[in-house]
Amino acid sequence: MTIETFDDLFLHTLKDVLYAERKILMALPKMEKNATNAKLKLALTTHKDETEDHILRLEEVFELLGKPARGAKCDAMLGLLEEAEGLMSEIEDPETMDAAIISLAQAVEHYEIARYGTLVQWAKQLGHTKVAELLKETLDQEYATDKSLSKLAEKTVNAAATA
Ligand code: FE
Ligand code: FE
Repeated sequence: MTIETFDDLFLHTLKDVLYAERKILMALPKMEKNATNAKLKLALTTHKDETEDHILRLEEVFELLGKPARGAKCDAMLGLLEEAEGLMSEIEDPETMDAAIISLAQAVEHYEIARYGTLVQWAKQLGHTKVAELLKETLDQEYATDKSLSKLAEKTVNAAATA
């Protein structure tokens, strides 16, 4: 699609994040399988469920805007997930793997936080109040996930990887 206006840019970015969320949903089970720490496994499972909600919420957003919920290829997320695959395939030690998975998952969360942060502001600017609210709900969950992953790394996983 050609991006001529701010509206087009907003729609394109929604499609980008929809594509990204769908890819994340496919990638999370492998990260969960590769994780050893029980809390990390649980965090990844929980976030998989949340990611399903993020996709549903985006579909609702497209519906509110009267547009088809079609993704647009997100090279950034493909790159992050490819890097995750590559790094995980090179690690054998379970504790090192856990530390790696947290770092990889946080890179994904930070991408989402960047995108949703922008989208919330743009939705407000464009007068899509309900859309902004929905996107903010997802943004808050991404923040919370990022924070809990940091906590897990700082409290347990990094120390276990050092030992
Ligand atoms: Fe998400
Ligand atoms: Fe996320």
